[in-house]
Amino acid sequence: MTATAVETAASLTRTMRDRAADWDARGSLPSGVRAELAATGLLGVDIPASHGGLGGTPEELGEVAARIGGACSALRGLLTVQGMVAAALLRWGTRPQRDRWVPPLASGERFAAFAATEEEAGTELGRVRTTVDEDGDDVVVTGHKRWVTFGQTADDVLVLGTARGRPTAVLVEGHRPGLTREPVTGQLGMRAAHIAHLRLDGVRVPRDNVVARPGLGLSHVAATALDHGRFTVAWGCVGMAETCLETAAAHAVARRQGGVRLAEHELIRAQLGRCAVEIEAARQLCLRAARLRAERSPEAVAATIVAKYAAARAAGSAGQGAVSTLGSAGCAPDSIAGRFFRDAKVMEIIEGSANVAELHIADRLLRRYGFRPGSTPGTQEEENTR
Ligand SMILES: Cc1cc2nc3c(=O)[nH]c(=O)nc-3n(C[C@H](O)[C@H](O)[C@H](O)COP(=O)(O)OP(=O)(O)OC[C@H]3O[C@@H](n4cnc5c(N)ncnc54)[C@H](O)[C@@H]3O)c2cc1C
Repeated sequence: MTATAVETAASLTRTMRDRAADWDARGSLPSGVRAELAATGLLGVDIPASHGGLGGTPEELGEVAARIGGACSALRGLLTVQGMVAAALLRWGTRPQRDRWVPPLASGERFAAFAATEEEAGTELGRVRTTVDEDGDDVVVTGHKRWVTFGQTADDVLVLGTARGRPTAVLVEGHRPGLTREPVTGQLGMRAAHIAHLRLDGVRVPRDNVVARPGLGLSHVAATALDHGRFTVAWGCVGMAETCLETAAAHAVARRQGGVRLAEHELIRAQLGRCAVEIEAARQLCLRAARLRAERSPEAVAATIVAKYAAARAAGSAGQGAVSTLGSAGCAPDSIAGRFFRDAKVMEIIEGSANVAELHIADRLLRRYGFRPGSTPGTQEEENTR
């Protein structure tokens, strides 16, 4: 692995850890910060050089996500959604689509969002009701998408919908008439990630914006995007957990109560020890997922589900442990441990919830014993992403 991209991410985020508290409180990631990230080229870290990226390995992408995630979940969210849309286009887009849409994503000239969730379709994305109807050389998109990360500001949105009742995916440019953005503010975590619900009211886009033919929108296009997103979220969680552990350990050594340092209490040391092991285990699972992705192994998708599950749990434990160790300092408005404590809960929900990951992992296990489960959401998509 070349250190360059990872070093760039480390140096970019060194000052961002402290500034991110303000972005979180304001509920907005400044456009200058998004431009700063874009200027490093890191938004295209794993995009091939032929499409304007840095051509990095999955491990490099992961380490970059960990550095950024260890400073600011919203900024890591930007890397995630940009990468999700680019990955889906690179895998399933036509050559003209790849050549047109991917380079501006790699450079950050344009920012993208991924809109799948609806009121009746969260975990069960097979239930999306947004329609994509053909009309001459255009398609007309109608529906209501919820919880779209960077939906307030994205230049382009990859929308999961249905065409003639079959899943499809279509790129909708943000300037198209009929697209309304309803900002979501004050949510539990990722508060600076410009989240919005999107109304698509007869939005007309050229037919060329449709990515892959009807039938493949969920099982192929969205599945590839979600698998990529899960990978960067997993690594982002490792970064969050590592930051929480460092913060808790430094505080335990510095803070004295009753004449002794907190670190002298066995309960505090045991808590730190437990978190250190969980984080290292999550990191190793993320590295395994990265290796399998680099080898294009059919096991990579399942390994990514396991890594994301473990890393989100590690971030949850580390956040909770760090806030406990810091006491009131962990509850302060600018506490990074407090912010990651909130963000970590969100990580257990997005890109495949912890519940559903457990079912996937158990299903794979039970298959070895001849049991064929049929009802876990996303099982079919997992098969098709390989
Ligand atoms: C901060 C944030 C950012 C987001 N960004 C995006 C985005 O960019 N794009 C996008 O499309 N969506 C986004 N989402 C939406 C997110 O993907 C969904 O919230 C998630 O898929 C869960 O859907 P739901 O909230 O409708 O929960 P539900 O599907 O209603 O599930 C609620 C709970 O029930 C459990 N559950 C559901 N079905 C099953 C089952 N079959 N077996 C066992 N347990 C089950 C779930 O695990 C969960 O714990 C975001 C959400 C948040 C909070």
